[in-house]
Amino acid sequence: MAETIFSKIISGAIPCHRVYEDEHVLSFLDIAPLAPGHTLVIPKEPARTLDELSDEAAAAIGRVLPRLCRAVKRVTGCAAYNVLQNNEALAHQAVFHVHFHIIPKPDEQRGLGVRWPSGSLGANAAELARRLAEAARGA
Ligand code: AMP
Repeated sequence: MAETIFSKIISGAIPCHRVYEDEHVLSFLDIAPLAPGHTLVIPKEPARTLDELSDEAAAAIGRVLPRLCRAVKRVTGCAAYNVLQNNEALAHQAVFHVHFHIIPKPDEQRGLGVRWPSGSLGANAAELARRLAEAARGA
């Protein structure tokens, strides 16, 4: 995988404001926060998108995410927050190393703004779910 700004942070080549670190995971403040306390959580394993992550690295992230959310809530005093994870440029990924955002939502103006153009399930929903279930078994 190509070097990214996050692999340079992992190696220590560039600095960050570290929040948490263990064998598999690093967490640090986002350099351009949507709200105070905006925190990133990344696996040390190099993977471009979430689907490429190993089970071990995914489990390590899953184990610490709630704890880091609790820390963000406690320190910012924000009960409301979003966890965001973007994959590929079309879906707003700018750094091509898997990362989760924890974004406090202090008020309407700050934090994450979401466009949510919801539709409705079509007649093929059962077939779609069946195909996805089959694909998930083989993934
Ligand atoms: P995404 O659009 O999901 O790829 O988000 C990438 C995030 O990385 C953005 O919120 C950036 O502000 C953040 N970012 C980029 N460079 C750095 C850096 N050197 N230290 C901390 N956060 C960074």
